[in-house]
Amino acid sequence: MKIQLGRGSYVPLSSARTELQCVNVSGAKTAFANIKSFWQRDYPDVSVAKGTLLMTVDLEDYRRQELRDHLGTPQAPSPAEVERQAHALLDLLDEINARATFFAVGRLVAELPRALWERIIKSHDIGCHGFEHLRIAHIGPARFRQDLRQAKEVLEQAAGQPVVSFRAPYFSADGCNPWYGEILAEAGMRIESSQRCWRVPRGFRGSYPLEGSGGRVTAVPLPALGLGHKRLTLIGGTYFRLLPLGAVRQLLRLAQNRGFIPTLYLHPYDIDPHAPLLHYPAGRYIKHRLSAWMRRLGRRSAAVKVHALSRDFMLNSLEGVFGAARSEHL
Ligand SMILES: [Zn+2]
Repeated sequence: MKIQLGRGSYVPLSSARTELQCVNVSGAKTAFANIKSFWQRDYPDVSVAKGTLLMTVDLEDYRRQELRDHLGTPQAPSPAEVERQAHALLDLLDEINARATFFAVGRLVAELPRALWERIIKSHDIGCHGFEHLRIAHIGPARFRQDLRQAKEVLEQAAGQPVVSFRAPYFSADGCNPWYGEILAEAGMRIESSQRCWRVPRGFRGSYPLEGSGGRVTAVPLPALGLGHKRLTLIGGTYFRLLPLGAVRQLLRLAQNRGFIPTLYLHPYDIDPHAPLLHYPAGRYIKHRLSAWMRRLGRRSAAVKVHALSRDFMLNSLEGVFGAARSEHL
């Protein structure tokens, strides 16, 4: 079976049946189960338009999350700041005629105005980024299942349609397979965008079946350097802000050569040079202060770089690229 996606010229991408995991090989038994489920499901052979850049946005209240995680206490939300930054990013995406997947934190549905959600769903797709933005490896399967269910329910109310894409908060799904894949499949997720590796597993290009999902969830991995939890996901966030455009272009080319569909991930704050620094209590938290300061670097240049890339690539959402495959499952 072959599905043609996007527009322009097409590169036939073949799927094969040998290596099914990007990270976290958890034993011969699991690998065998994956191979078996893969053969049984006739995994689609996906073709993708040349020059596609998957545009993804993590829509979250980073001020609350960072302070909560580092200080260990609940924090007040900052919806006005999130809203202002989200509109700025939506303006940018409108200017370059891009479609993006907004991986949104479920809690924000009740905190952000309806008009913002309507603006997002008018031109983009909503994916899920958890309800509380918690590290999956820390919370374990039971709490992940509950958090995912809660997030999916409210996000589908906001989107007015099924939400089928998921990104793990902090890319924190390393080491969680096969239960992570099982829970995503059970919840009706179809696309996953958190697996990180240096090269797409041998025999695949662009995507592969997520371990544990029985072939129901398509993993669309991101290129990354390093091992374990120390992976650097270079085409997005801080690295995207700090790297010069030439280096970003080189990384995107490298990603293509290594079998990835190039993926850019940004947060609305990545293009906001005006947001105040996070406020930590005096005299402590040196490391987190430094990290908060770093997080503000390169914000002016990030939007310029996105503009430039829009001249080289067609920016599309995960659902826009995998739409045909998704509709098969729904
Ligand atoms: Zn996040």
